[in-house]
Amino acid sequence: MIGDEGMDRDTRHRIVKAVAEAVIAEADALTALDQAIGDGDHGLNMRRGFEAVLADLPQLAEKPLPELAKALGMTLLMKVGGASGPLYGTLLMEFAKAVPPQPGRDEAVAAFGRAVEAVKARGKSEPGQKTMLDVLVPVHAALVEGAGPARVREVAAAAAEATVPMRAIRGRASFLGERSIGHMDPGARSSALMLSALADAMESGR
Ligand code: ADP
Ligand code: MG
Repeated sequence: MIGDEGMDRDTRHRIVKAVAEAVIAEADALTALDQAIGDGDHGLNMRRGFEAVLADLPQLAEKPLPELAKALGMTLLMKVGGASGPLYGTLLMEFAKAVPPQPGRDEAVAAFGRAVEAVKARGKSEPGQKTMLDVLVPVHAALVEGAGPARVREVAAAAAEATVPMRAIRGRASFLGERSIGHMDPGARSSALMLSALADAMESGR
């Protein structure tokens, strides 16, 4: 989704803004999902994090991609809180370490893969346990296979939906055991939302 021409300041600004606004627009829905199988704070957590991102956006957009990703990761780590803040923080900070300033598509996808591996390590989790990884892993796999924005949206939505019949093995929802079955995982939904908004924003600038 990143072409070989790289990314300028306006592109970085537009993409980060689009992702932040998409999360904020769906914050109540994320909270409702977390009310069903968690403690009902996921939307509030994510909104707090992305409002902080929007407040810093002019300075953030000036940064080259690796520094931008690192700063975003630190903001999410500090402002989102809960289980998801450190995990999304890890995702972005590991992406930052692995991505060059002007990545080609393959380099960006490889950096995303490293970032997803870091989330697994940090969360001691694997796909199939009803978490954000149930979206991050299949979307990464689709990108490796060459998925464009439409396919990313499709895979992300289907992957989030596929968490509904899963039983939670990690995170707060795991305390519910069998009762976690029948609800979409809030972190899977927020991951799908962010990746879809990212895909849309990258497509619209091309
Ligand atoms: P908390 O559970 O602390 O209230 P949030 O509500 O913000 O935090 O985030 C919950 C989401 O975090 C879950 O829906 C799940 O997707 C994700 N999550 C929780 N624990 C883990 C883990 N160990 N590995 C991966 N993702 C996790
Ligand atoms: Mg919660």
